[in-house]
Amino acid sequence: MLPALLPPSLELAVSKPSVFLELKPPVYHSFPEQKVRAKHNFLGRLTDPCRTLAGSILSRLVFARANQDGLRNNRSQLRKMPMPGSVDVGGINYDFFSPRKILFGWGRRAELASEVRQLGRRVFVVSGSRKLEATGIFGDLMDSLRQQGCECLHVATISHEPEIADVDTLVADILGHRPGAGDCLLAMGGGSAIDLAKAAAAMVTNREGSSVCDYLEGVGKGLKITQPPLPLIAIPTTAGTGTEATKNAVISSYAPAFKKSLRSDLMVPTIVVVDPELTMTLPATTTAHTGMDAITQLIESLISKRTQPIPQALCLQGLKLAIPALIESVDYPQSKSARTAMSHAALLSGIALANSGLGMAHGVAAGLGVLTKAPHGLACAVMLPTALRVNRDVAAAQLAGLGLSLWSSLRCLAVDHPLRSLIPANPPSDSGSIDLVMELIDAISERIQIPKSLSAVGVTAELIPQLVLASRGNSMSGNPRELSNSELDGILRGMIS
Ligand SMILES: [Zn+2]
Repeated sequence: MLPALLPPSLELAVSKPSVFLELKPPVYHSFPEQKVRAKHNFLGRLTDPCRTLAGSILSRLVFARANQDGLRNNRSQLRKMPMPGSVDVGGINYDFFSPRKILFGWGRRAELASEVRQLGRRVFVVSGSRKLEATGIFGDLMDSLRQQGCECLHVATISHEPEIADVDTLVADILGHRPGAGDCLLAMGGGSAIDLAKAAAAMVTNREGSSVCDYLEGVGKGLKITQPPLPLIAIPTTAGTGTEATKNAVISSYAPAFKKSLRSDLMVPTIVVVDPELTMTLPATTTAHTGMDAITQLIESLISKRTQPIPQALCLQGLKLAIPALIESVDYPQSKSARTAMSHAALLSGIALANSGLGMAHGVAAGLGVLTKAPHGLACAVMLPTALRVNRDVAAAQLAGLGLSLWSSLRCLAVDHPLRSLIPANPPSDSGSIDLVMELIDAISERIQIPKSLSAVGVTAELIPQLVLASRGNSMSGNPRELSNSELDGILRGMIS
């Protein structure tokens, strides 16, 4: 715990904080200002916890030095004064949303039936396109639900991002069964299946409008979800969207073309069962794209204009897992540790974005989704390096913190890991830390074959004005740097090869 780099005088302070608090004025005299500044330089070589601790102590020493005359005879005043250089917590003020219960772990799907049973007896099941039936997993889960006394109604299977008609049709079907108390929805699949189920669960109980379109952000009639949706259990079978933990469902339309959210604080799924084993059979391309979606969500939530403290902590943890694990889960799909890391990172990304919002990469990805039908994860991945460069200066503090955090974590990577050669021997400077974040993202993108050009996802110069307008959604509003339409136009044109 005690950093070896601490100078002797600070070792005393770190190992015995109470001694530090009782430092007597003569001790201050032993810290001439230039010496304190020189010692301050070594902070750049410390890892996070030590850096924070030593930073607080040094700040206090500098502060005390500057005020020693006034404080010499009034030590109690020192205790009451704010600690200069410490985190300003005066502005912390937030709500925090997450699922009521999360079950995470290898094989935890075995507990699904008992969890569902607590919510009700009749279960409307929505599944994704993956052939879980072929593996027997889907059938086994349905059997276990029935053995617990549940009635399972398999009401929808979806193989594309949900559209307005998909939601309206499913809602009509469920309403035909006269849902009520004791009924719930179960969504098992990727983001599309879970989003469809989330939207249907909300629309079944909110009947003021005739279509989900009436409730969509920006394009509907402005109707609000006021009634709690049917309880929803989500089981993701991909590791990326994090929608199992968010309060929105993304709904697409192609005539007219838009991709908008149905959003309400009430829409966070009730119970989430994340079993990384379900992702073992994902194809490499899906693993790569959904994984980059999770990484993009974690970074954009971290630096978002609406970023918040709990999500920030989750983002750092998620990125430390996902950055090294994504390549491994693509190269070695049977890696239990890599699959687990990616599932956990994806879950954290959902919790983070539900509370902090996103940014430019997701803003443009929404536009790409409707204009070129680029898969969501791929669209995010193509945009992420540019979004980092665009926001570099505005989000410098968060990105530098992320870079240093990644450095301290990734320097323990095995020497043959593809990212290991990027990790410098010594802690990077703030600027070097930001460079490290960008280099890591570039290296991952290169390795898993993410194209650099928007041309690769179907964008032409003629399409740019429409793309700019289609990018103006909730995600873009969280981008740390304000971008005018002409500025965004120029950025996107620069990404066409
Ligand atoms: Zn996303």
